Amino acid sequence: MTNLSWQHSYAKLGAPYVAQADPEPATRPSWLAWNESLAESLGLPQTWRHSEIALEALAGNSLLDGSEPIATVYAGHQFGQYNPQLGDGRAILLGEWEKPGGDIVDIQLKGAGQTPYSRGGDGRSPVGPVVREYLLSEAMHALGVPTTRALAAVATGDKVYRNSVEPGAVLTRVASSHLRVGSLQYFAMTQGGDGLGEVVNYIVRRHYPEFIEALDENTPATRAQVLLEQVTRRIAALVAHWQSLGFIHGVMNTDNMLLCGETVDYGPCAFMDEFDNDAVFSAIDTQGRYRYANQPGVAHWNMSVFASCLLPILHENQDQSVAIAQAVVDEFPRWYTEAYQARLALKFGLDAFRPDDQALIDDFYKTLCNDRLDYTLAHRWLTEVATQSTHQSPIESLFNASEGLTDWLQEWQHRREKNRADTAESLRAMQRANPVVIPRNHQVARAIAAAENGDNTPLLACYERWQTPFDWQTDDSDWAAGPSDQERITRTFCGT
Ligand code: AMP
Ligand code: MG
Repeated sequence: MTNLSWQHSYAKLGAPYVAQADPEPATRPSWLAWNESLAESLGLPQTWRHSEIALEALAGNSLLDGSEPIATVYAGHQFGQYNPQLGDGRAILLGEWEKPGGDIVDIQLKGAGQTPYSRGGDGRSPVGPVVREYLLSEAMHALGVPTTRALAAVATGDKVYRNSVEPGAVLTRVASSHLRVGSLQYFAMTQGGDGLGEVVNYIVRRHYPEFIEALDENTPATRAQVLLEQVTRRIAALVAHWQSLGFIHGVMNTDNMLLCGETVDYGPCAFMDEFDNDAVFSAIDTQGRYRYANQPGVAHWNMSVFASCLLPILHENQDQSVAIAQAVVDEFPRWYTEAYQARLALKFGLDAFRPDDQALIDDFYKTLCNDRLDYTLAHRWLTEVATQSTHQSPIESLFNASEGLTDWLQEWQHRREKNRADTAESLRAMQRANPVVIPRNHQVARAIAAAENGDNTPLLACYERWQTPFDWQTDDSDWAAGPSDQERITRTFCGT
């Protein structure tokens, strides 16, 4: 029986856009995690929920009825260097799934074996990166950040060979789509423009139909312009959201920037503990290209690469094309700054971001940096001060405000007195902008170590706690605390 909720619209483009790719079997699959609330929102059939059928299919041993697995091709700039062909080397798209209500999502297995784009890699994934992605992507979703989701994590029972021998796993990833800047780059740059219009059409139809009045009657140039502007706006807002939570993506290559505007590729990513503009966790990012303070600039650069892909279709006159592309790319800093300032206003309990606020906020971050204070706790401490609830939460036992910060507090309170809008509303907004808990590196590392030893209890506990990041819970003295010096983790590794 074919399930009617599967679609294979991208697969229908055929070669060279996609290639057939069958998952490779796993020896002894077992559940690490199953995301029932996501399964529910996807409207998956009951027989596929946490069942033997699902376990076998999500480990790569069988196919869910109606799925037609493929891998997609893409290219991308990795650390600034163009690689003319990458592609889904360790990811297999089972198909597009229609949710109740009609939205379409990709369902993909990550780590289920080789594909035509594996380039010598084994297409596998160790347990560690699967657990990290499961936890981080679901925590990001709970924090309100657009992101790919994790439906399941399954241990394969097979070994994966990296620097050491590690247990293997497969992640089931769900995304609005996995099409990325690199998907366009492959056709624009590697194929010299062949096939580019087809992909642009596809993406606009799938992600931005509301911006096109009559899709079929619009010229390719209109579609390309809509795509460029909407993606650039979404990426600007996304990176502003990351910055506001101290999230460092770690590998912002153009092949890791989704055109639907969701966060993807939880490789060496991390949330910072102590505030540091230069924070970088990726063990391979030796130059700090993707450090915290560089993320907006890198996103801008990535959008200029994206725009350059569209030059052949933005206008029939190339000078005009360049002018259109440049005009959109030049808006990135403004779109980013507006989005970031709006988030800062919420975080600092301000009714609006006013010109003088920048200096006040710069002083706050300088103080955090000089006094090596925790980013998340400092913001939550401010929130508790503003709501006069420092004594009703464990914040005072978790966070010691330095003298510098206490001095700064006077300035900030003085500024908040000038708020014109409703304070109760800005206080509620502050609580929703400043989480109590984030997926801290040392906590993720503990969940990974346990899962590698066959114990998924910490993984499930972390998932559960990070579902409600903005509310205090009874045992939060541990969950909310920053790492001790012994616990502190300064390096994370790519999931390759
Ligand atoms: P990433 O750093 O995860 O964005 O991956 C960059 C590229 O390398 C993508 O094309 C991946 O599909 C590919 N890749 C990463 N790890 C593997 C692996 N173990 N086997 C095959 N391809 C891989
Ligand atoms: Mg990637």
